[in-house]
Amino acid sequence: MRKVGSKERIRQFLLAHIGEIVTSIQIRDAVGTGVSEWARRVRELRDQEGWKIETHNDTTELKPGQYILREKPADNPHLHFKTSISAKLRAEVLDRNGFTCQMCGLTPGEIDPETNRKVRLHIGHIKDKSLGGLEELSNLRALCSTCNQGAKNITSEKPTAIWLLSQIRRAGQDEQRAVFDWLRKKFVR
Ligand SMILES: [Zn+2]
Repeated sequence: MRKVGSKERIRQFLLAHIGEIVTSIQIRDAVGTGVSEWARRVRELRDQEGWKIETHNDTTELKPGQYILREKPADNPHLHFKTSISAKLRAEVLDRNGFTCQMCGLTPGEIDPETNRKVRLHIGHIKDKSLGGLEELSNLRALCSTCNQGAKNITSEKPTAIWLLSQIRRAGQDEQRAVFDWLRKKFVR
């Protein structure tokens, strides 16, 4: 039998109690994991998926340990990539994009200066599914979590060589050397 993850159980539990105040004890009983685990999942639903889950920090109506999901969350098409894109296609997209976020240029393992978290890459649609974009190599690209959520203020146009060089000239020697090392690794065998 397929194991249902704790996040999915929390999702189902909250969906079954929209508009009701639920307590941490109810969540714990429904989900059956430790508090740090489900509290993290609740935060992920709020922060990454935009679920309107309120706590006592948001409203005086609630006491500590009480939560409420106000309304049925909108279906966010960006969140269903993992289930619908095959591992093979995902690997092809990542490989073609050089394991680099196609908007901001960060790579996995680097620290995203916006979030101070390690970069993770997702597969994003170039033309959105809701606009008829297809789930095929030509319409997919690697994006970091922040860019995938549209949270980075970067144009999707690629930087030009002139602009890149101007930025490298402005940087300090250590930064320039890091760029040189990276280019050498990429282009020199
Ligand atoms: Zn990015």
